[in-house]
Order: sequence, then C-alpha cells, then structure tokens
Amino acid sequence: MSEEIICPYCSAPIRVTAYENVITCPYCGTTFVKGGEVVKDHRMGMINYSPKEIFEIFKEWALRKPETPDDISVKASMTNYELTLYPYWVFRLDVKADYSAYKRKSSRVVNIEHETLTIAIPAAKEMLATVLSDYEFSVRGKIYYNSQVVQSLGAKVLNANISLEEAKERAFRKALDFIREKLERTGLTKIKFNPSTKVDIEDVTYVHIPIYKVFYRYGGRQYYFLADASDSKIIYAEIPTGKVFRVISIGAALASLVFAGIIFFIGLSLHAICFATYSGFLMTLISAFMFLKSIKGVVVVAKHRQEADTVDKIAKYLIRYI
Ligand SMILES: [Zn+2]
Repeated sequence: MSEEIICPYCSAPIRVTAYENVITCPYCGTTFVKGGEVVKDHRMGMINYSPKEIFEIFKEWALRKPETPDDISVKASMTNYELTLYPYWVFRLDVKADYSAYKRKSSRVVNIEHETLTIAIPAAKEMLATVLSDYEFSVRGKIYYNSQVVQSLGAKVLNANISLEEAKERAFRKALDFIREKLERTGLTKIKFNPSTKVDIEDVTYVHIPIYKVFYRYGGRQYYFLADASDSKIIYAEIPTGKVFRVISIGAALASLVFAGIIFFIGLSLHAICFATYSGFLMTLISAFMFLKSIKGVVVVAKHRQEADTVDKIAKYLIRYI
C-alpha cells in the first residue's frame, strides 16, 4: 500500500506508505505533514562516529561486563551495519498538576505541583515496545535536519506514522505519570489529578535520532547491538557469554534448586503446605531460568531488561511472601 505525493518545496515525487503522516523529502530535506503544513523545527542528532569507531567503543564497553569473554576484542568481527534515523516528537510541557492525595493513609492533601518537562515520544509505530520507545536523549546539540549528510552516509530515514495528536496525548500521560511517581516518592498515596490540571505545550520539535544497528560475529554465531551515532551510547546489546560466566550460572541454578528443595521440606515439616509448594515452585522457576540463560550463551543488555525484570518480580514476590 504505497502512494506518490509531491514535495511542496522541490516538487519531487515521493513514494510513501498510506500510514506515513509526516514526510521528509529525500531530495531537499523539507519535512511536511501529509496534506498539511511544513514542519519548521525539524532537527537531527549529528552523526559523530563511523561504524568502525562504534564497534571499537562497543567492544570496550562489553569487556566491562562480567559475562563477556575476554577475547571478544580480538575474535569478534563486524559483519554488517545499518544506520537509521528514528523520528521522535519532543514536547516541552508546562504542567500544573492539581491533585488530591493521602499522607500516611489518614490526612488528605490538596495541592498543585508545577513542573516544566521535556518529553520525547516515538513517532513511528515500529519503535513501540522496543528499547527505542523509552530511549532518553538530550535535545541539546541537535542540528537542523540536513538531507545531504543523511544521503551521503546512506542512512535510512524512518517517517512518522504516529500523528502529532496521538503523540500529544501520550506526552500528557507520560508527564502526569512522571509527576505521580515523584509525589509517590514523597510518601503520598491514592494520588488523583483533578480536572483543573493544566498541561500547556510550550514547544514541539520533530527530531531524528541516528542509531546504528551493528551485526557482528563471534565464535561462529551472529549478534547485534544498537548505539546512538551522536554520543556512542549503547542502547541495546546481545553479548556472547564467556565460559566462566556460564559455569557460575549453572552453579547458581543448582544452588537455587537445592534451596527450593530445602524450603519445600521446611514448609512441609511446619505443615505450611501452601507456602512449601509456592516457594518451592518459585525457586525451581528461578533455577530453570538460570539454566536456560547459561545454555543460551547470550546475554541481552538493555536499559529495560525484560529477562531481569521477571527474576526481579519473582524474587520480590518471594521475599514478600516469606
Ligand atoms: Zn523536496
């Protein structure tokens, strides 16, 4: 499902899919809303690193992780890379959150929290539910979009297919979530935002963030990582696990299994059958997870690690239960 539209600035024909709603002309770099106006404040992150430099930085970074094999710097080789510019809507919001809450369960508090926030919302659906959806970058140092630079580097440009309206809604929700979490940390509970809460948009910028996806080989297998081409930050990485790490994982898995058995029998001897079954089962799960991890031979490192989250949740639940 694609169609041809005409760039309002250079009149070049551009092929787009039906879903794309903010288009950057690949010829002149003009950015416009499909059937609408030109987006004036369109910026991009500078591409400060070559793929080779990024790969060297990645290897140094990986070596600082305990699971990485020591010979990665000599034995890993880059096989391929892609440079993609991902679109974000960046809002500067002025929030006056009018809320009611409870302090120490009994006393009711009514107050206003005033905050100016900068919030980035992914503008393409492909980015949702990936590490890129919550990626935090600094808007400072972003240059005006330059299609010549993008072209000369052979970078792929992703157009927005999430509308500005939808992005606005997400930004508002994110802003209120941020304030809610902040208030919760001060000990408030049951926070409710009143209808008089006001969110004003002070500024909207459309920003493309250049991200490398680098594929590399190590020990006959392929892995990849994502890195910001502006500041070389590693956003997501698959890393092979070294032998030492695997042995430790298997050890930990066995230890949890033994522990599961001990808890189970202690529970039984105390006639706490529910407790015995539950905790025994959960510890066995943790053990199985560790076994799996050591067999898989690959660790995924990202800011939002789902694997680690699962173990965290199980562990927390277990602690609460005990
Ligand atoms: Zn054009």
